[in-house]
Amino acid sequence: MSNENQAYITALLTIITDAIITVDQTQRITFFSQGAERTFGYQVTEVIGQSMSLLLPSRFVEVHREQFRAFAAGPEPTRLSFEIFGRRKDGSEFPAEVSLSKLSLNDQILFIIILRDIIEHKHAEEMLQLMAHCDSLTGLPNRTRFRDLLRQAVLAGQYENKSVALLLMDLDQFKEVNDTLGHDRGDLLIQHVGRRLKEVLRPTDTVARLGGDEFALILPLAEAGHATLVASKVLKALEEPFEIEGLPIAVELSLGIALYPEHGSNADSLIQRADVAMYAAKRSGSGYTLYTPEQDPHSPRRLALAGELRHAIDGNQLLLHYQPQVNMQTGRITGVEALVRWQHPQYGIVPPDQFILPAERTGLIKPLTQWVLKEALRQSRDWNQKGLPFNMAVNLSARNLHDSQLPDRIAELLEVNGMAPSFLELEVTESAIMQDQMCAKEILTRLSKMGIRLSIDDFGTGYSSLNHHPVNAIKIDRTFVRDMTENQNNAVIVRSIIDLGHNLGLEVIAEGVENHETWNRLLALGCDAAQGYYMSPPVSAQEIPCWMKESPWGLA
Ligand code: C2E
Ligand code: CA
Ligand code: CA
Repeated sequence: MSNENQAYITALLTIITDAIITVDQTQRITFFSQGAERTFGYQVTEVIGQSMSLLLPSRFVEVHREQFRAFAAGPEPTRLSFEIFGRRKDGSEFPAEVSLSKLSLNDQILFIIILRDIIEHKHAEEMLQLMAHCDSLTGLPNRTRFRDLLRQAVLAGQYENKSVALLLMDLDQFKEVNDTLGHDRGDLLIQHVGRRLKEVLRPTDTVARLGGDEFALILPLAEAGHATLVASKVLKALEEPFEIEGLPIAVELSLGIALYPEHGSNADSLIQRADVAMYAAKRSGSGYTLYTPEQDPHSPRRLALAGELRHAIDGNQLLLHYQPQVNMQTGRITGVEALVRWQHPQYGIVPPDQFILPAERTGLIKPLTQWVLKEALRQSRDWNQKGLPFNMAVNLSARNLHDSQLPDRIAELLEVNGMAPSFLELEVTESAIMQDQMCAKEILTRLSKMGIRLSIDDFGTGYSSLNHHPVNAIKIDRTFVRDMTENQNNAVIVRSIIDLGHNLGLEVIAEGVENHETWNRLLALGCDAAQGYYMSPPVSAQEIPCWMKESPWGLA
């Protein structure tokens, strides 16, 4: 080998972070790269000539020696990949990915080990598993887990021929608490409520937090009498004001009860019925009610709104606000996310949280998404022509991923507006992907092949197998980002997600960035882009050009 080649290879080996180690047939170490020094904490001089077993936990030494002998003796294969535990100089252990190869060199056989520490990756995976089932604020089961538990309870009821009670509840003035006392105190209140609910119940009962101020209780093998008894116990337990940072705060709640099999034969219908009963309780101010079919026609404003939604889409009552997304390296805007609002003639501006879900349930999400895409791309063209060429992110719902015509309709809208597909970014949530993996994958693959960017929204709140989908970016859910400077748990989650994303070659965007401190922390963690009130809340299209001129994040 020429000197130049040798120098080149040496330089290469210094920058590779993986550990590269060669051993001879007796497993003596003959080469130990800088990456290996960093991984194991040994200096090269300490390990040359030593046995490979120095780098393994002693309980695994024998197994690996056998494995190695078999590999060394066998003619095939010449390469093997597996996971092992490594042991550092300080005795600590870590999971590692290993690839072992065999090389003949001047009559000698050389074994090359390339080893990568995957502890961060594993942490992130475990963390995601945990987060997938657990509400981060209260530690109670979250909505996903709750559905599973309810399904199990219904199955058990079926099997034992017993009834199951579902109690849904939400706090009556939680929004006011949040608005007047701030989110932090609102969060504290939710934690206290969760704790008190647990105290009232038997260990076999389940309390879950479904999000916001909504909680659910599952009482296995419970008749109507028992369910109403628990409901009054819950109301009583929550009557006593909560003390939040020295202030007494009283909450009131409404509670709806539905029973299996009387009111519904499966988890979904029970949830829907308990929801109707909860609204009936709210209307009458009675604390709790048991579901009756007569409640159906009067039920939620949510559903009333759904009825008017079709008219809203056709009658141009929808509008889009846009929130800038900023590249953290350059500090400049790269795109905006389009967020839909409903300008309701009676209620004023209705936020999307109140009509997206009903739109999904009623199938109206298809025309709604079509309207959003059309308007967003029209706006995008307009900005492009005015010299504001940024990307446009649009949210998709689970149902949209079952719509096989979607890619063609998007292609058409792009063409009509003369926009390159790379200007469009589609955001899908983890749960949307999980709902029907095969179908979602097919549609996502088609969109990706068209050159459209895809990102996973609200990342961390569900569990998706990232590896199997053609996505470009992940957006860390704002619940983790918002208080990461105070909440150590969430800071760790944010860091893990950034590392996980980067390990998979994805861009990572943090949403819910509300202040400079959070921006700085994210920058230090290597996050790629940010979105949040700190830079700008969602604003109307007319406000964007002004923001571009006046804000430090506008185009240079
Ligand atoms: P999302 O996609 O996670 O959108 C971001 C939400 O976070 C927006 O709420 C935005 O106003 C809010 N936000 C932005 N920065 C901050 C911050 O610094 N702090 C806090 N606390 N919040 C921040 P918005 O506009 O109410 O939208 C709520 C959700 O409605 C969206 O969540 C998205 O899931 C859904 N949505 C909105 N527009 C559409 C749409 O066109 N189609 C579909 N399918 N869903 C939509
Ligand atoms: Ca989004
Ligand atoms: Ca989001």
